[in-house]
Amino acid sequence: MPTLQLQNATKVYRLGWRRKLEAVSDINLTIQQGEFVFVVGSSGSGKSTLLGLLGGRITTQRGSAHFDNVNMKYCTPIARSKIRQSIGMVCQQDALLRRLIIRDSLAAATKIGLGRFSSEERIDEKVVKALGVVGLSGAENKYPVELSASERRRAELARAMINSPSILILDELTTNLDEDTGWDLMQVLMEINRRGTTVVMSTQSSSFVNILRRRVITLSDGRIVGDVKRGRYGELKGNFPQL
Ligand code: ADP
Ligand code: MG
Repeated sequence: MPTLQLQNATKVYRLGWRRKLEAVSDINLTIQQGEFVFVVGSSGSGKSTLLGLLGGRITTQRGSAHFDNVNMKYCTPIARSKIRQSIGMVCQQDALLRRLIIRDSLAAATKIGLGRFSSEERIDEKVVKALGVVGLSGAENKYPVELSASERRRAELARAMINSPSILILDELTTNLDEDTGWDLMQVLMEINRRGTTVVMSTQSSSFVNILRRRVITLSDGRIVGDVKRGRYGELKGNFPQL
């Protein structure tokens, strides 16, 4: 079962000529299959960058990111396809294509990597199932603009889940949703996690974190300053030299 691991992972963004910004620095982190992990920290602390590194969407400048002991920076195209299928990801920004109906956005995701030989019937089955799980049955033929912001986030979650990935990485999935919808989505995620899928999600919601009491990783200025099992929001504990 795949483990995600960052070793001394550092990401530097170039801000034009000669200016650089180290968004995350020297991160060491292991996430085992089946864990549920919250990533918290103030805006700009590096949460999105950390999730991008874990999901193989952003590459490290120094250090490394591993999926199941495979270095994601140097793997073969076949391994990369497998990894992309195994990690479902929802980015912080809305990423549904405006020109596509929801069915086609989700269908396109089934063609990533190794799933490209599925029949259209099989794809439709998967789409219907994924939309059902997130409470969006019947939205297949709608365009993103016809959905509410919360429905679009749910459609993105359905897209991330469509290949039954072993890992879900969700960047502020529930931010800007009303509390009831947020809790509905959390219930869906807890159930998926109960069946063995790893869930790593950044959030600004202290109530989800404090009620659900899962592993909580806290970032400050691109460094991990807390990593607590069954933690609370803002709880800083663990063996971190900078504390
Ligand atoms: P968070 O998700 O916690 O708000 P981010 O990972 O988005 O943090 O950002 C960490 C730091 O990196 C911030 O200072 C942000 O401005 C900067 N940053 C993020 N993405 C980029 C980018 N594509 N180019 C330049 N700087 C970036
Ligand atoms: Mg972010």
